[in-house]
Amino acid sequence: MTLQRLLNEGTRKLERAGDREAALDARGLLLEAFRLDMVHFLMNRMESLEETRAVEEAAADYRQMIDKRCRRIPLQHILGTQDFMGFTFKVDRRVLIPRQDTETLVETVLEEQKDPAKKVLDLCTGSGCIAISLMAMGGYDHVTATDLSGEALKVAAANGEQILGAGHKIQWRQGDLFQALSGEERYLSDQGPREAGYDIIVSNPPYIPTETIRGLEPEVRDHEPVMALDGDLDGLRFYKSIAGEAGKWLRPGGSIYLEIGHDQARAVTDLLREGGFVNIRVIKDAPGKDRVVRGDVDKNHYIIK
Ligand code: GLN
Repeated sequence: MTLQRLLNEGTRKLERAGDREAALDARGLLLEAFRLDMVHFLMNRMESLEETRAVEEAAADYRQMIDKRCRRIPLQHILGTQDFMGFTFKVDRRVLIPRQDTETLVETVLEEQKDPAKKVLDLCTGSGCIAISLMAMGGYDHVTATDLSGEALKVAAANGEQILGAGHKIQWRQGDLFQALSGEERYLSDQGPREAGYDIIVSNPPYIPTETIRGLEPEVRDHEPVMALDGDLDGLRFYKSIAGEAGKWLRPGGSIYLEIGHDQARAVTDLLREGGFVNIRVIKDAPGKDRVVRGDVDKNHYIIK
């Protein structure tokens, strides 16, 4: 038996189960089971494996993980992690698995917002991948992240500790969008102190139209939290609320960055315009699809109100 033969065996099984990334997934599981890095795998894959107990156990582990993956359990749930922006995030059924598409959102904010004194608000944080990457890479001192799911926030806080260290300063708040915050944090609050409000709002809200969810791959449909996906009938529910309310929480000169589905640029642009935003722009992801809409608070917005 060789590692290459185990890899071929697993790949064939996964292909038969309808896994589109069969070869990649089998290799990921093999490396995990044998605790190997890519270099050692490539050097040793044709060598006959020793018949030791440790090797037998690793092969059994591997085959068990292949069987799980054949049942279309996401690779990330089997491994327990997903890399995002170069960091390793813990993931499980409680949170949406971070997508590479979402790196476009983080990269856009990092490019445009260089001042670490800016206050950041991340709505629908899930695993915490956006908030944590922004704090780690943008050096922002003040990051608040919200989610309706208290269970998701436990995962996010654990990721924060792991990646940023135990004393990290992200504030995790449970609640529905802005309701997770206290009224005094509003920029436009009557009583609020003038340091109230945020400079940057980011969000990757649920944006899949309810009917579309049934047709998604089983990995997503059956294993990821539906509340992290479901954007209501038209997929736009969260954008409507966020675009309508964000102006009350953003300071003059503040900006908003929203991840969108590839066909939602027009609708979300319109919602931001109606919400009083200017300098609205759509940014594409690496494969060339519309992925982020950004806008700035119109300073006159406050005078009109
Ligand atoms: N991009 C995710 C997907 O395609 C959806 C994420 C979301 O709804 N925010 O499954």
